[in-house]
Amino acid sequence: MQKKGCSEEELFSFLSSARNKDRTYKKVLSSMCTIPHPVAVRAHNMFIETNLGDPGLFLGTASIEALLVERLGGLLHHKDAGGYATTGGTESNIQALRIAREMGGSKKPNVVVPESVHFSFEKACDILSIELRSVPSDDKFRMDEEKIEDYIDKDTVCLVGVAGTTEYGVVDPISHLSDLASDKDIFLHVDAAFGGLVLPFLKGSPDFDFKLPGVSSLSVDPHKMGMSTIPAGCLLVRDASVFKSTEVDTPYLTVKKECTLCGTRPGGSVAGAFAVLEYLGEDGMTEVVERCMKNNRKLILGMKELGYPVAADPSVNVASFICDSTPEGWQVSRTRAGHMRTVCMPHVTEAVIEEFLTAAGDM
Ligand code: PLP
Repeated sequence: MQKKGCSEEELFSFLSSARNKDRTYKKVLSSMCTIPHPVAVRAHNMFIETNLGDPGLFLGTASIEALLVERLGGLLHHKDAGGYATTGGTESNIQALRIAREMGGSKKPNVVVPESVHFSFEKACDILSIELRSVPSDDKFRMDEEKIEDYIDKDTVCLVGVAGTTEYGVVDPISHLSDLASDKDIFLHVDAAFGGLVLPFLKGSPDFDFKLPGVSSLSVDPHKMGMSTIPAGCLLVRDASVFKSTEVDTPYLTVKKECTLCGTRPGGSVAGAFAVLEYLGEDGMTEVVERCMKNNRKLILGMKELGYPVAADPSVNVASFICDSTPEGWQVSRTRAGHMRTVCMPHVTEAVIEEFLTAAGDM
């Protein structure tokens, strides 16, 4: 750290030169984040100094967090769901496994996940000393329904299904997982970090949420398709009493117990997340999601015409292609199996898709 501070002008000139090295979202088809909605930015700034880690000081902000949970719970078929705002899918998944481990009571706990699961589960299992058991995918890149039971035993404390997989945008057989979870009395966590704010707005989406009786908890991320500022995730649980299992005493705060992973927690992005949902409502969200899905279909069709078929039929606005090249100047990513992976976020407009397809035609 320099001994004497610099001028504001010097500082911001330095910051803007760093910021100018960032890519804009313009030619980015690899990200599940997007440009935040203007109401999210406005709400975020309004709540910029708030700390949900000490909610007694910020009763208004805490009430907005409770409303966010209520809105998301209602959308996901359980208006009385318990929950809190997290920093994103990773934290929600860690906390869900932590709860499941505490509830399960095994000395050698294991969790049964789809092979396609997000890498946050690897982190969660490492931190929590849980064995990660991966069930292979079927030919549609979903968790193979026939094989799940082979991986479950008396030490299985959690089953996981993904609603809107990161790589192929498919939905695991959650209804089957729900039956298994109910029959065997195992905690079922659904990672709907991406799909949780997509599937409810589309006709014909498979059931994946609290409508299914076996679902115990869900991750859903407003900072993905919810167009909030970052960080904004949410962990929802069917029965709020499960949070007792992760509670610690917090004697010097305005509340005496805390069940969250993080201590200090941002209120700004939580207000941002709530603002978007409230401002757009179901109709506005449906419009955004339908537009993204239309662009996703246009991309799939266009790539097929160029000789690059989609590897799996997605249920959300993600598409992965059998295509080894990358169009010059564009940011796409690769799945573990090597497919070209794209996400049609709100910043990926129809015009962007057309430009991308022209570039793909020139590869
Ligand atoms: N779960 C799924 C299905 C995801 O797609 C992602 C991120 O892409 C995550 C979890 C992790 O979310 P985050 O990066 O917000 O922690």
